[in-house]
Amino acid sequence: MEIGVQLDADRTGAEELVALARTADDHGIGIAVVTGRRHADAWAVATWITGVTERIRVGVAPRSEPSDPFDADSAVPAVAEKATATLAALAPDRTLPPGARWTLVDADVEAVRAASGSSIPVVPVHDAEDIARIAPLAAAPGPAAPAGRRRRSALVLAQRVPGIDYDAVPASLADRAVEPGDPEHASVASTYLRGGAPGLVLRPGTVSEVADAIAFARDHPHVPLGIRSAGHGISGRSTNRGGLVISVGSLDGLEVLDEDRRLVRVGPGRTWKRVAESLDPYGWALGSGDYGGVGVGGLATAGGIGLLSRKHGLTIDRLRAVELVLADGTPVRASDTENPDLFWAVRGAGANFGIATAFEFETSVVGQVGWAQLTLVSTDIEQSLHRYGQLAGEAPRDTTVFFVTGRQRDGVWIVSLYAVVDDPDPDVVVDRLTPFLDLGRPVRRQAVLTPYSGVMGNAADIGPEGQRGFGQPVSRSAFVPELTRGFARDAAELLSTGLVYFFELRAMGGAISDVSPDETAFSHRSPRFQATAMSSSDDLLTAEWDRLRPHFDGLYLSFETDRRPERLTDAFPPDVLERLRRLKARYDPDNLFRDNFNIPPAPIAAGTDAASLTEDAA
Ligand SMILES: Cc1cc2nc3c(=O)[nH]c(=O)nc-3n(C[C@H](O)[C@H](O)[C@H](O)COP(=O)(O)OP(=O)(O)OC[C@H]3O[C@@H](n4cnc5c(N)ncnc54)[C@H](O)[C@@H]3O)c2cc1C
Repeated sequence: MEIGVQLDADRTGAEELVALARTADDHGIGIAVVTGRRHADAWAVATWITGVTERIRVGVAPRSEPSDPFDADSAVPAVAEKATATLAALAPDRTLPPGARWTLVDADVEAVRAASGSSIPVVPVHDAEDIARIAPLAAAPGPAAPAGRRRRSALVLAQRVPGIDYDAVPASLADRAVEPGDPEHASVASTYLRGGAPGLVLRPGTVSEVADAIAFARDHPHVPLGIRSAGHGISGRSTNRGGLVISVGSLDGLEVLDEDRRLVRVGPGRTWKRVAESLDPYGWALGSGDYGGVGVGGLATAGGIGLLSRKHGLTIDRLRAVELVLADGTPVRASDTENPDLFWAVRGAGANFGIATAFEFETSVVGQVGWAQLTLVSTDIEQSLHRYGQLAGEAPRDTTVFFVTGRQRDGVWIVSLYAVVDDPDPDVVVDRLTPFLDLGRPVRRQAVLTPYSGVMGNAADIGPEGQRGFGQPVSRSAFVPELTRGFARDAAELLSTGLVYFFELRAMGGAISDVSPDETAFSHRSPRFQATAMSSSDDLLTAEWDRLRPHFDGLYLSFETDRRPERLTDAFPPDVLERLRRLKARYDPDNLFRDNFNIPPAPIAAGTDAASLTEDAA
């Protein structure tokens, strides 16, 4: 069984402490917890012990007492966190994971046995005899796994999050479920831009397993729930700390359903890079975004503003049907003719309505496209922004150009332009893009003819170690109806603050505006641009971005991390939000799906059965 020893640096001299740690190590004791800080720094002691022992895992007891002037980390808790992380990075197998629970018990064999279970019994030891007395327990076998369940060590079990009923994980999901302490946990904990430490990751591989995972989530309304496809969420919290994640990344197939109609069925976990690669041989493409690592599940439930959008529309405009598992576990299909109200809602607010398990798209015929990455140096960013607005807004719809800049460097701005011209003729490509070279002094002009997969191929593949985002992204989004001089001036002022490290303008219009605003829950069809700003300071960015609001009309939720309630009405105008709230009351009355621009269900009149609500009756 897993047991530990407490080494008290306040009561035992440093040399003796090290000798005790060595003895415990020799006796096969698994864990040493160093306590005390008055005479020696516990972290320094723990680090030393790690170096002079062979196997024992070493940790430091967290402080429970109030601030102590003699304690190195009492004033700066981050010091302790950094010390833990450093030791864990240097000696990953020798560090007591910070989430592992342990209980201090008397050096009595029966007390130790009684304490073991969901936490590790840790016994104070003062001499070698204390260690010899409890050592036989360390050799005793640990508890057996429940029938049909993966066997987990006591150390892993000690990292379970209170409030999650791990033993109730459905049998269909148990094998692939990942808990803190499991070797795979680090590879599924974080997403592309967000650090996380979920208490449980469920990885269903079939529709019925998705329903099982949803049933488990329904029984855990008190912990955060994230839905993940390919983990590139910005607004979507597809990871969390101590909560559940349902990851449908393994539903990543693509099949051609009807070659004449160019109809394909795609799983939510497939990345757009892989979608593009699969469609290439047919001479087809599906407009997605500007980065191939993004997943189908998150993007195709929100919009999909990309480098083919002005010619072929948003990604959701190519969607012909979607399959979802609803909050009550029912699998449904939605299209223009089956559950059309749900189909409307999914195309813009899909994350609120269920877990999408498959999408049917009508692909576009797309041959070779001109794909350009241009870098320019601008000494007058206001002028560059304004000129970009004129050129990109007025370009023919075969041309979609995105403008990216960031902090000023040495008095100039580096502007990157990402452009797709959907035309195989190199002369047309050059014609379309040459005017953009006026935006600054060109320092890099790279343009190639490529299938669309060459555009999406810009994404790095995620290896077995998974994604390693950390912290939380801070991002603001807005639709800009017209790129006026006033907007260019105020955006230039924002950029001059140095707060924004990433600023992007996406040209919209064209085919996006061909679709009526009431056809999809994504209803912002008329703006000509979408603006995104990312910063490391939420508060400061909020204040600066709010100053630009007079230039905005709504926002694209996928690039927004602000959770103030008014953002919901920016994403969905009042009539759209009202309709979404009624549908939410019908399809997810208990608000299970809440990790991404959560739409509160409309209140339901007493005596009305939510499941029977029609849009008009709600
Ligand atoms: C580098 C980068 C580039 C991007 N470029 C573009 C772009 O060009 N155009 C654009 O439109 N967007 C773009 N985005 C935004 C992106 O579309 C969204 O963040 C999207 O949600 C990511 O999808 P995912 O499946 O990879 O993410 P995940 O993190 O897996 O999911 C994000 C959220 O989507 C919802 N969701 C995920 N899977 C499902 C599902 N199966 N069913 C229902 N809801 C689900 C959940 O709310 C989840 O929190 C970009 C994001 C990044 C990080």
